[in-house]
Amino acid sequence: MNIRSQVSMVFHLDKCIGCHTCSLACKNLWTDRPGTEYMWWNNVETKPGTGYPTLYEDQEQYDGGWVLEDGKLRLKLGSKKSELINIFYNPRLPTLDDYYHPFTYRYSDLVDAPQGDDQPVARPISMITGDDMEIEAGPNWDDSMSGSGIYAANDPNLKTLTEEERRRFFELQQLVYFYLPRMCNHCLNPSCVAACPSGAIYKRGEDGIVLVSQDKCQGWRMCVSGCPYKKVYFNWNSGKAEKCILCYPRMEMGEAPACMHSCVGKIRYLGVVLYDADRIEETASKPDSELVEAQRDMLLNPFDPEVIREALKCGIDLKIVESAQKSPIYKYVKQWRMALPLHPEWRTLPMLFYVPPLLPVTATLTQEGCYEMEADFFSSLESARLPIRYMASLFSAGDEAEVIAVYRKLLAVRIFKRAETVGDISMETARHALEEARLTPEEVEGIYYMTALAGADERMVVPPFLREQAIELGVDTQDFQEQRGVGTLYWPTRGL
Ligand code: SF4
Ligand code: SF4
Repeated sequence: MNIRSQVSMVFHLDKCIGCHTCSLACKNLWTDRPGTEYMWWNNVETKPGTGYPTLYEDQEQYDGGWVLEDGKLRLKLGSKKSELINIFYNPRLPTLDDYYHPFTYRYSDLVDAPQGDDQPVARPISMITGDDMEIEAGPNWDDSMSGSGIYAANDPNLKTLTEEERRRFFELQQLVYFYLPRMCNHCLNPSCVAACPSGAIYKRGEDGIVLVSQDKCQGWRMCVSGCPYKKVYFNWNSGKAEKCILCYPRMEMGEAPACMHSCVGKIRYLGVVLYDADRIEETASKPDSELVEAQRDMLLNPFDPEVIREALKCGIDLKIVESAQKSPIYKYVKQWRMALPLHPEWRTLPMLFYVPPLLPVTATLTQEGCYEMEADFFSSLESARLPIRYMASLFSAGDEAEVIAVYRKLLAVRIFKRAETVGDISMETARHALEEARLTPEEVEGIYYMTALAGADERMVVPPFLREQAIELGVDTQDFQEQRGVGTLYWPTRGL
């Protein structure tokens, strides 16, 4: 076993209110500079919708991530050779229009306006040229239900639905949406790293944070094409690539990343997990239907004495192991099996997991036009307003059973707690729900506590960073990863 530690995250989508505070906290801290105007390292999308940059999920257009060819993983971008041949011409990049032309308002029009009969108006102006502009798009242009008919209808995940399902979906009374906050997944098998011809992107040895060396970056932008989540950006001012750094300077001081710290809905969980790096290639090469389970399997039980022994042998400090034991990520992903990766079929092994939103499932529209809870909770899954197939396209490479299993758990927790506290559901029904969801009452209490009551230090268990120790041991360098063979996939430029 080659045990490594990784900072990982869970987003509980039932709790996201789409307030964008996370995005603003990140923007103010890291991308408030020339060249970064259009960048949102953290953004919040409305789903169904086309996202930011628009249609980033369409890998036929962008060729991001990995594909399996004769059982072997290869970059969808093509071989290293073809990548190098095309290095001066790369059409698989989003344009500024796909992101949006960054704008602000000429506030001086308000402040300096002379006294007059009309209310002064602040005109929108380009943040790049300063010229007046008509705003036609933005990073959250299709926020909530604005423009659903256009943006939601073009969501690539809706292709999984039949014509009839799509038609029904867009009937006004059926319209439904949820928020999907996105940031770099700090993947275990990052295609951005593999796509970089300069070896400028690397995964930090001690915590798995994926970073771009500003000294080494040559601005080829292959990482932008290679990342299927489009979470690496090109700074036109510095000529270098930039991306989410998971607020490592904050975390090294014991603080949670700004987006997590500021999250209004308290939907974000953070913690360290232990995994077996020798299994990266094997896991990422599984058929679509086995990807979620295989990724879950890679995460190791931090309470297992053998895992602890091996982790210590691999240079992981006992304090990190203890932190992994308190990690809410291990609970949500592995123990409770409720958090799923976004688009696992891109095979980057993302380390950000989502609890799919249940809310649209349980309510139906009555004749009188009111929403009410379904009496038969589990059969309501079949008639979910956001079809299970759509959610499976997002979170389980099309494996509907994975999504249904999570929904059963979410429903069972609600039923059980409702029976216990409100009393309008019998305990017998509640126990039946628990059996169906394969949950124990203790697990329900644990899930309920972590979802509804846990404090900030339980939701975000920032591991001790021991940075000096990592430098002393040499585990912070790219060379270290090579020596340890940490996912040979990280370094495909070698041996060209
Ligand atoms: S999401 Fe994954 S592939 Fe994309 S930039 Fe982050 S680590 Fe790289
Ligand atoms: S701050 Fe939290 S609740 Fe608000 S949009 Fe971001 S993730 Fe959602």
